[in-house]
Amino acid sequence: MPSPIIHIDNIIKTYGPLTVLDGLSMSVMPGEKLALIGPSGSGKTTILRILMTLEKINGGHIEIDGEQLYHMQKAGGLVAADERHLQKMREKIGMVFQHFNLFPHKCVRDNITLAPMLTKGIARAAAEARAMELLDMVGMADKAKSMPAQLSGGQKQRVAIARALALSPKIMLFDEVTSALDPELVEEVLNVMRKLAAETDMTMLLVTHEMGFAHDFADRILFFDKGRIVEEGKPDDIFRNPRQERTQTFLRKVI
Ligand code: ADP
Repeated sequence: MPSPIIHIDNIIKTYGPLTVLDGLSMSVMPGEKLALIGPSGSGKTTILRILMTLEKINGGHIEIDGEQLYHMQKAGGLVAADERHLQKMREKIGMVFQHFNLFPHKCVRDNITLAPMLTKGIARAAAEARAMELLDMVGMADKAKSMPAQLSGGQKQRVAIARALALSPKIMLFDEVTSALDPELVEEVLNVMRKLAAETDMTMLLVTHEMGFAHDFADRILFFDKGRIVEEGKPDDIFRNPRQERTQTFLRKVI
């Protein structure tokens, strides 16, 4: 039995007086495709941001790929992670955001080569060759020299996916990646994600309002409400036969 690639143990997250996550625990197995669903404000995005080290936690532990994320093992025991440790851990994870977050003054190809060249010291020629492979995979090779402002939302998001893949992460996080898109552009982004899921063994966590996609894409669905996992299970069980009242009410509203 393999160990989880992500193990979240009793984490607490507060924003001022607001407790968003109050003792959340969950595990994700290597290669698993997980969809986090639930009402707005239930803490789904916060979990992804914590895994990406964009938010600090107020308590608990997270282990990623066998190593503590926010702590380091020292002779005297566990101590808080320093920036070097966080940077190393971040390279295991790629994240795609709702609002793309491309560098506006860099062309598509340079958006992708920047991190590998800066953080991994990869030579420009090798980084560019890899960028072109990734752009080809997301169907954007012909736009390598375009600037982000010249692209549609769907195209920007496909570039953002290629950029997140450039550091060869073991884990990909997708935070409502189609929510800011015009409806006719959603499918081209979902298609890229389907392809990724089919062709790689990456672990993927998805926060989404696209219930049809979550059903088809995920091995397991977690339904969140108020920072807690209310119900989890296989897509067919959650969508066709939810056991909890709160899950039933939510699904009645969104499907
Ligand atoms: P979801 O992704 O399920 O919609 P979020 O994780 O975005 O939920 O938010 C959970 C709660 O945390 C919400 O009440 C939200 O208002 C609050 N929150 C998120 N980010 C911040 C922040 N930077 N400062 C204060 N409150 C925040």
